[in-house]
Amino acid sequence: MTVILFAIPLFVLLIAIEIYIDKYKQTGHYRANDAITSLSMGVLSRIMAIGHQLIPLTFYILVFDTFAFTELGYSPWVWIAAFVLYDFFYYWNHRMGHEMSILWAAHVVHHSSEDYNLTTALRQTSGAVFSWVFYLPLALVGFAPEMIITVGALNLVYQFWVHTQHIDKLGWMEKWFVTPSNHRVHHAQNRVYIDKNYGGVFIIWDRLFNTFIPELESDKPVFGIRGALKSFNPLWANAQLYSQLAKDSFYTSRWRDKFRVWFGRTGWRPKDVAERFPLEKAPLSSFKKFHPKLATPVTYYSVVQHVILLCITVFLLLTMNDMSGIHQLVLVATIVVMSIQNGFILAGSKLALALDGPRLLILPLLWLGTGLVIPAMLFGGACLVSMIMLVRAVRSSVTLSNMAESMSSEDTNTQVSISS
Ligand SMILES: [Zn+2]
Ligand SMILES: [Zn+2]
Repeated sequence: MTVILFAIPLFVLLIAIEIYIDKYKQTGHYRANDAITSLSMGVLSRIMAIGHQLIPLTFYILVFDTFAFTELGYSPWVWIAAFVLYDFFYYWNHRMGHEMSILWAAHVVHHSSEDYNLTTALRQTSGAVFSWVFYLPLALVGFAPEMIITVGALNLVYQFWVHTQHIDKLGWMEKWFVTPSNHRVHHAQNRVYIDKNYGGVFIIWDRLFNTFIPELESDKPVFGIRGALKSFNPLWANAQLYSQLAKDSFYTSRWRDKFRVWFGRTGWRPKDVAERFPLEKAPLSSFKKFHPKLATPVTYYSVVQHVILLCITVFLLLTMNDMSGIHQLVLVATIVVMSIQNGFILAGSKLALALDGPRLLILPLLWLGTGLVIPAMLFGGACLVSMIMLVRAVRSSVTLSNMAESMSSEDTNTQVSISS
């Protein structure tokens, strides 16, 4: 957690540089709606992790103290061995995350972005509560619990930089390491790239277990998932597949299938529910990114709300140890409400935009009521400025919807078409 917390300023700097390059070169790798959603999911994932971050360490300590074959100590070689072996278990954790439905339901969040940029790296699930199980063998063979946590965090930090389209193939590194090129393949929905390149730091595991494929000139990666999310609500992104699995499990008639829906191969559905509730999966050639058209003031408003949300998150993460439970709860509730609300606004919901007026009043008052006086005044000031922006956003949104009425709904709802 601490390693990741220290890495956040570096992440922010690199994202800012990538956005600048994107604008300068006009590469179009960033869309505000997709990037904001990725960052919101990163925020929610960190917030949720507060609740269960001690569970892995507790179990590593338990296994290490009770069953470990030996104690390997802290020499540089042991650190290197821990780093490499962690990645081996990460490979299997990640591979299972793709191949078993219940695990894919959590991991799908990371793949739901239809863009590929550094913010995609932060699009993390809030649901991987049990992934630590895969690393228990490290504690069993004698790696210290804190060492496992540290190399795990370093593994995650390494994966940040590979989420970019601005770096081409990297020569000899492609053979040994996960790179932007071979990880782009992992995020692609082209048939040839499905279930490939699972490594976190080293690509050698994929070469060893026959899941490696290089990025091909003939198949430009199309990012995203086949059953598109079509939402910018970070909570729904985390719940969508669980809800579909629960529905399939409920409606299928055979008891064996009710179990297999969760623990079977990803994509498998019982015949009866597949016939009764067919899932729409358009061919890749007609894939269109989910991109509702918004008036510019609405996009600006949404970006500003997201910056406020990020400031609140940093405030929470830095001061939570000195904060009462009720204050933590109020801040977490604020972050959750704002991220959901912003998701609806980005999807073009006028109701969500209208509801943001009361929200701008209620949340600072709630902070004040619980005794967060100075933060409430700062937050209230930001909400006051937001109110002015909101009025402009609502007006421009109404104008846009009047214009849209004279156009076909297809033209207003999608704009980015991909050919593959
Ligand atoms: Zn994956
Ligand atoms: Zn990734």
